[in-house]
Amino acid sequence: MSFRNISKEALAGSLTLGVVLIAGYFLGKRKSPRMSISKSHGKGKDNPLMQYVLSHSMREHPALKKLRLRTMEESMSIMMVACEQAQFMANLAKLIKAKKALEIGVYTGYNTLNIALALPDDGVMVACDISETYTNIGKPFWKEAGVDQKIDLRLQPAVKTLDDLLTDGQAETFDFVFIDADKVNYDNYYEKSLQLLRKGGVIAVDNVLWGGKVLDPSPDDPDTVAIDRLNKKLHKDTRISLSMLTVGDGLTLAIKL
Ligand code: CA
Repeated sequence: MSFRNISKEALAGSLTLGVVLIAGYFLGKRKSPRMSISKSHGKGKDNPLMQYVLSHSMREHPALKKLRLRTMEESMSIMMVACEQAQFMANLAKLIKAKKALEIGVYTGYNTLNIALALPDDGVMVACDISETYTNIGKPFWKEAGVDQKIDLRLQPAVKTLDDLLTDGQAETFDFVFIDADKVNYDNYYEKSLQLLRKGGVIAVDNVLWGGKVLDPSPDDPDTVAIDRLNKKLHKDTRISLSMLTVGDGLTLAIKL
């Protein structure tokens, strides 16, 4: 696949591994093809290195690709996870032999489908969201991929679903959690997810760099404050080991000890 024929299609949905942003700050904003963050899914088209990464690594299931392109028609498509990040998380789920996954923040269900495809036939993906409109966009593609039976979509505030799972005796039974919903509740989602996670399981927290805003959180910006607070907390949290990755808009992996 050449740069040219992958560009628009695959880059739509990539947040630009671009990423790597922070280096720009630390290195006095010296120019480098790897030192820009993009909040747009489309910006990667101007980044030849990102095009190279995508054209040499993306292996999207046909239904996943269709759902990504369908989601790009939505005005809020920036809420979709970057495709290369999603593929990385699916590989991570396979690596830890995940059977039971939890997603907090579904949007149109691109990553829901992505992880469901990585789970074994008897795997379960509990997907939490409050929007019937957005999740309905993904459902036909879940079915087309033949994994809709693995997806347990719960349309209610995610905190309620997490409490339900805990009350139901499912603590320490989940292998993989992806947190990507409203940022002010991130700490709640993290604490409850940690209870639901088995030892050795992974919580992936999205948007931990928040477009670079975490470098200078304004007290008037509760989303940035919440993300920065959780980043600081996780750094010291002895219940986990962690890595903060500069993929997408920043992804922290927390492994339960
Ligand atoms: Ca996100």
